[in-house]
Amino acid sequence: MARLLLIAFDPADARGGARLAEALGIPFDILQLTGDPVTDAGAERVCLAGLAEAPPADGLAKALVPVCAEYSHVAMVSSMRCKDVLPRLAVHLDAPMVTDVIAVESPTVYKRPVVAGAAIEVVETLGEPVLLTFRPAAFGTAATSGASLVEAVSLNVESLARRVSVASHGKGGRPDPTQAKVVVSGGRPLKDAATFESVIGGLADALGGAVGATRAAVDSGIAPNEAQVGQTGKNVAPNLYVAAGVSGSTQHLAGMKDSKLIVAINTDPDAPIFEVADLGLVEDLFTAIPKIRQALGK
Ligand SMILES: Cc1cc2nc3c(=O)[nH]c(=O)nc-3n(C[C@H](O)[C@H](O)[C@H](O)COP(=O)(O)OP(=O)(O)OC[C@H]3O[C@@H](n4cnc5c(N)ncnc54)[C@H](O)[C@@H]3O)c2cc1C
Repeated sequence: MARLLLIAFDPADARGGARLAEALGIPFDILQLTGDPVTDAGAERVCLAGLAEAPPADGLAKALVPVCAEYSHVAMVSSMRCKDVLPRLAVHLDAPMVTDVIAVESPTVYKRPVVAGAAIEVVETLGEPVLLTFRPAAFGTAATSGASLVEAVSLNVESLARRVSVASHGKGGRPDPTQAKVVVSGGRPLKDAATFESVIGGLADALGGAVGATRAAVDSGIAPNEAQVGQTGKNVAPNLYVAAGVSGSTQHLAGMKDSKLIVAINTDPDAPIFEVADLGLVEDLFTAIPKIRQALGK
């Protein structure tokens, strides 16, 4: 019988998958690796692994093999860590895999963007189970419903790698850009990490949003890696995307052009970001952002 297993690292991942199951038209269960169980996302069962933290991808992928046995579809959100695990699982299961799914035509036919979003590819899978990474923003958030059955599941994770430490110079406590309703992004003109944090982080906090960044800002050490938006970063589609000091390269646009309202602040009136912006402000961001915060009273 067709059935989807949504593998979720945490509660945010778990909430992202309900609309995918709806689009597939099949019942689904959640395998949640960490955090409190999400029981109101419409899943029949939430299998709780109860891990303190996400294990390294090699051991996790192997441990997931027996759990997938009864499913026709196995999915994870399109995040970096999921993209680390699912291809390994596909190899272990000798199963077809489609990445970055944005639409479902049938349980075997999927749409996904290619060439930095310039074209949409239609892919048909010819085997089972089908493994998918999907962009939650393309499917939307489902209304909360029902109370799933919660079961404990034990994963036998044996890894050849060991996480020694995790270091991030991003400030904790903010939502992940892929899940946030508001994303404030900054680019190369932010100069250094402290300026980025106070200007971009400050506006993000004032709006209750997440922080995003261009690759130029990340590569220069101005912004944390996990903030990178674009072709080689995260794909976001929040209700509000503020791009400050962001030129609007095709690679950056690939990760944010589906945002509902795009606000661009740039000193160059010919910057490509204005071609996708709904609201544009030709102004120095160091003048504009304090004024916006003042208007917000924050
Ligand atoms: C294979 C590949 C993959 C890539 N993947 C990504 C990706 O995932 N994400 C990504 O972002 N990039 C990616 N890039 C890099 C991309 O091509 C651009 O180099 C990068 O997006 C530019 O970043 P930026 O807009 O911060 O910098 P810049 O191009 O330097 O632009 C800075 C902008 O800020 C404006 N500005 C300057 N000062 C101010 C000020 N005081 N106030 C307001 N505006 C100001 C300027 O007018 C300019 O438009 C990739 C490139 C390659 C080759």
